[in-house]
Amino acid sequence: MRALVVEDELRLAELIKRGLERAGYTVELAATGSTGLSAALTGGFDVVVLDAMLPEMDGFEICERLRRAGETVPLLMLTARDSVTDRIRGLDAGADDYLTKPFAFGELTARLRALVRRLPPTPATTLTVGDLVLDTEALTATRAGVQLDLTARELALLEVLMRHAGQVLTRTAIVDEVWDFATNPSSNVVDQYIRYLRRKVDRPFDRSDIETVRGLGYRLRAPSHHVP
Ligand code: CA
Repeated sequence: MRALVVEDELRLAELIKRGLERAGYTVELAATGSTGLSAALTGGFDVVVLDAMLPEMDGFEICERLRRAGETVPLLMLTARDSVTDRIRGLDAGADDYLTKPFAFGELTARLRALVRRLPPTPATTLTVGDLVLDTEALTATRAGVQLDLTARELALLEVLMRHAGQVLTRTAIVDEVWDFATNPSSNVVDQYIRYLRRKVDRPFDRSDIETVRGLGYRLRAPSHHVP
């Protein structure tokens, strides 16, 4: 899956790139409106993430020009928080969806998945680790067939753990994926949510699969390591 990210804030652009690459995308970055437009016009992208506020040519104009040129690539606009006008302008200009800044990676990847859903091949929407099953489209999870009552954030955290089952995830990696880029990775927010998740995912089933790896981070035990 190839994604074009048009964003002039370098730090954010790099973060988005890293996050999308972890989600399996090949990412090309463009830092200005005009380079973004020409990259998008060359085609070959499965999805375009377009910041609204860009130097030279803003995201709305790029969007309009692309649509006028007959380019149908799915397009997600990044807009300023609470700017209803931006959202309406973006959709009017031909964007397929929008996301307000700051956002969590889980939300970005979920939106992108929804946008490219109609494109073959359809990516798998169900993650399975042992008796844990998470549906990334329906946003539901079950353990041993029992529905888990999780908040959106807990679900996003579980998804990251499941995608990397058997691997150690640092707090920073988890924050990058599940929280917005303004969250300080040294805060204890991850530990707090890991506790919530254990309370709902492990404890009722008399399990302890969400492991603490001392000094490193957390790991969801892979099924092969599971001792029943
Ligand atoms: Ca910008």
